[in-house]
Amino acid sequence: MAKLYYYYSTMNAGKSTTLLQASHNYLERGMQTLLFSPAIDTRGGTATIESRIGLKKEAISFDINFNFFEYVREKKSVLHTLSCVLIDESQFLTKLQVIQLTDVASTLSIPVLCYGLRSDFQGEPFEGSKYLLTLAEEMIEIKTVCSCGKKATMNMRIGPDGEPVREGAQVHIGGNEAYTAKCMKCFKAQMPSMRSSAVMQTV
Ligand SMILES: [Zn+2]
Repeated sequence: MAKLYYYYSTMNAGKSTTLLQASHNYLERGMQTLLFSPAIDTRGGTATIESRIGLKKEAISFDINFNFFEYVREKKSVLHTLSCVLIDESQFLTKLQVIQLTDVASTLSIPVLCYGLRSDFQGEPFEGSKYLLTLAEEMIEIKTVCSCGKKATMNMRIGPDGEPVREGAQVHIGGNEAYTAKCMKCFKAQMPSMRSSAVMQTV
């Protein structure tokens, strides 16, 4: 039974490396894969999935209007050894696209491996992660550690001044911020909006 898998983690946990390794394992056995990456700040039909340890692979870029089910169905009719669909940065999927991916798994019988974040720098879910966390049949956490040594589960945006960014757009295209993975305790210490006392005041 082909399933929809969600490999979730913080930033810089090695998602792209894990994705490229998984794809490589299929190719080594003579099977084909389709790799997808969002067209966040690129134009044209291709994107690159690049891992921090230097692995790199071309991918098909998708935007919010891309239909995964139609695309994969068409490819399957010509690529008879198509065995797996892998999606990088899958937090940028729409609800409809996550549902299309459940169709790819259950109707086309092709496993779908999505890799992405759980939450943004303000601790809010992305649309893609929200529906993947709800609809994926298998969820696998890719673990990484905070600077304090505990498991990191949150993403902190660091501005050009080296200070944590506390508000702003969920995706800042062309910004020169960096991200760092934090445990909940260290994240809350820098994000007053994540304290229950602050949340109660705004409800
Ligand atoms: Zn910590």
